[in-house]
Amino acid sequence: MSDSTPLPFIPFTRPSFDEATIAAVAEVLRSGWVTSGPKLAEFEAALSAYFGNRPVRCFANGTATMKIALQVAGIGPGEEVITTPISWVATANVILSVGATPVFVDIDPRTRNIDLDKVPAAITAKTRAIMPVYLAGLPVNMDELYALAKENGLRVIEDAAQAFGSEWKGQRIGSIGDLVSFSFQANKNLSTVEGGCLVLNNADEARLAEKLRLQGVTRTGMDGMDVDTLGGKDNLTDVNAVIGLHQLKHIGQFQGKRTALAAHYFTALHSGLKAANLQGLDLGLPVQSDGDCKTNWHMFQVVLPLEQLTVDRAHIMGDLKEQGIGTGVHYPAIPGFSLYQQKGYRPSDTPIAARIGKSILTLPLFPGMSNADVERIVNALLGLLTQYRKS
Ligand SMILES: *Cc1c(COP(=O)(O)O)cnc(C)c1O
Repeated sequence: MSDSTPLPFIPFTRPSFDEATIAAVAEVLRSGWVTSGPKLAEFEAALSAYFGNRPVRCFANGTATMKIALQVAGIGPGEEVITTPISWVATANVILSVGATPVFVDIDPRTRNIDLDKVPAAITAKTRAIMPVYLAGLPVNMDELYALAKENGLRVIEDAAQAFGSEWKGQRIGSIGDLVSFSFQANKNLSTVEGGCLVLNNADEARLAEKLRLQGVTRTGMDGMDVDTLGGKDNLTDVNAVIGLHQLKHIGQFQGKRTALAAHYFTALHSGLKAANLQGLDLGLPVQSDGDCKTNWHMFQVVLPLEQLTVDRAHIMGDLKEQGIGTGVHYPAIPGFSLYQQKGYRPSDTPIAARIGKSILTLPLFPGMSNADVERIVNALLGLLTQYRKS
């Protein structure tokens, strides 16, 4: 151990853009047409083919995509949308932004997704939709979700931001279901730097989504233009779309690499926990496979056994960072944020989410990583758990 050169830093995630993608961006920039145009049309057609020929429209980001999904479903003031407290805050923010009210239902601690068994008790006369989130890419039980929606006359807006390539009973998320929203933000499995897409049910919904993303404008003939709806400025540019077209070519390979790395995490964690005599520790591992739900391994998240440790999560994250390992928190429970507390939400109303939001930790996982990286991360984590275990 004479070599003191620090090991390279492993971030919790990193996008994979190859030289062909960079060249394609340069080509779009030189073409003279840089905003929404032919590359966007090509990307939307490719996505539609990917999702079983359902209509697909792209937007500037996943947040705009979800907001437009709510607008397409006609959801607005005075209405309630049931969702999960463990998500990126965008999920609840978009519900507020259309004037509706988010209703948080606690999570299943095993999957860390909304507990569908607890949804019926949250349905009122004002409920219009359920917005599930597929945390880390793991879908919920689609049969249960859509049975609930049908029985209660609700729309479903799937926040599938993290679930590009995930499957239910062998079918891709997005190829089935009601309105399904994806994000192409830099951390996501398929990235256009920023961007998103919505899978819709029919041509009428697709036309409305097109209007909503560009000021509500409808054009007719050579010079006709009308505005009959208030829209925003949420279109995706050709620069972003051409990146997406190239990412789509590699998505199968990315997916294979993520799955293999996740499998290696389980092997290394199981043998490491045994070797370090840590079996008595309540370290929560992700669900490796969950019946008909197939994850895309967007993230690999553990739940730290904080009650059995002498330090908090921030301390563990700081120590890992010192060892050259980046981690993330996805996510603190939304009801705990000041804005939400001011609106009367209480973290104690969804206690499982409150607990997991304080102890969940995202370990690095991205296609550019190696098995040796996984082993280094697991060794570092288990070393800290040993060091800080309460005696
Ligand atoms: C990334 C993400 C979003 C928002 O997507 P942006 O493209 O960042 O606007 C929404 N929900 C979840 C669960 C996400 O992970």
